[in-house]
Amino acid sequence: MPDFSREFPIFVISLEKTDNLQKRLAKQAKIGYNISICGAKKHVFTQKKRNHSMPNIDLLSMHKQFLQNHIKEGGIVADFTMGNGHDTAWLAEAVGPGGHVYAFDIQEAALEHTRARLEEAGLADRCTLILDSHANALDYIHEPLCAGVFNLGYLPGGDRTKTTLHESTRIAVEAAISLVDRDGIILVAVYPGHEEGTVEGNMLDEMLASLDRRKFSVSRLRIINSPTSPFFFAIERH
Ligand code: SAM
Repeated sequence: MPDFSREFPIFVISLEKTDNLQKRLAKQAKIGYNISICGAKKHVFTQKKRNHSMPNIDLLSMHKQFLQNHIKEGGIVADFTMGNGHDTAWLAEAVGPGGHVYAFDIQEAALEHTRARLEEAGLADRCTLILDSHANALDYIHEPLCAGVFNLGYLPGGDRTKTTLHESTRIAVEAAISLVDRDGIILVAVYPGHEEGTVEGNMLDEMLASLDRRKFSVSRLRIINSPTSPFFFAIERH
């Protein structure tokens, strides 16, 4: 077992045998633990030295660690909300030269920014950028995904009217679930700090809770004493 004692806090998520793993890691790191759980695999998160002005748990960096557990070199992945292309570029790196990224956005400016980012990083030839709603994903993707990412809401600093909407988000998340391969993952980041984000979060809560647990494990990672902070769902296919 690795020595986590010099890195803290530790955040552990697991469906099976959670308690023992949490207790062992927490004891080793000499910290408390208070974790909510779902998922068929064990995920262990460590964060380097804590900055006291920041929240203990950085959900966005955890988001990436979830993805890393499922993305394969040469895999096919999708960024369902391209925006400025940060996630698209990260996914393109993760799948390597033999992999492929499909990325969607409804704004031409998003495609332009993302294209520039990918070209600068030498990643453009492994990405297909699609100017269309993610609700139409099944028109473009005809192969299984090892990962799919939704970063809902609007572009920071951009046009707030171009936000994702619960009706199309529902269709798109259903499409993503139908595309995800065995051992794959779909991550959906939700921003309840604005009205439509709250509606999307509630809709996804209800929809994802009804997924067949023999096929999928669905986790919701949320800072429960900060209800307007972003949170995410991880949908893992067995
Ligand atoms: N992941 C992005 C990044 O790394 O910069 C940020 C995504 S931003 C929070 C949400 C994006 O979703 C916006 O660029 C917005 O235009 C896009 N969007 C809104 N509705 C959409 C839809 N129906 N289909 C695809 N993208 C959509």
